[in-house]
Amino acid sequence: MIELGDIKAIEFECKKCHARVTRLLDDWLQHPLTCSNCGEQWMLRENIEKIREFVACIRQFANSELRPFILKFDVTPSARASNGKD
Ligand SMILES: [Zn+2]
Repeated sequence: MIELGDIKAIEFECKKCHARVTRLLDDWLQHPLTCSNCGEQWMLRENIEKIREFVACIRQFANSELRPFILKFDVTPSARASNGKD
């Protein structure tokens, strides 16, 4: 299981060229609007707003001291194997 508080960064991977870029939740900088490798457009206006809300939700619910429950996510076995966590 992964707690939201365990999530420190989000990785974007281009489906076209598989280049990856990571954004730290605590230091997001700007949204990756296009692939920095091949230039494929990743985000339209509505995606930018959804990502902004998604990151805000993670930050809000990651702090379990503010609420009487802890949110945890299960991941597929292949994800566990690739990141070494459970
Ligand atoms: Zn790309």
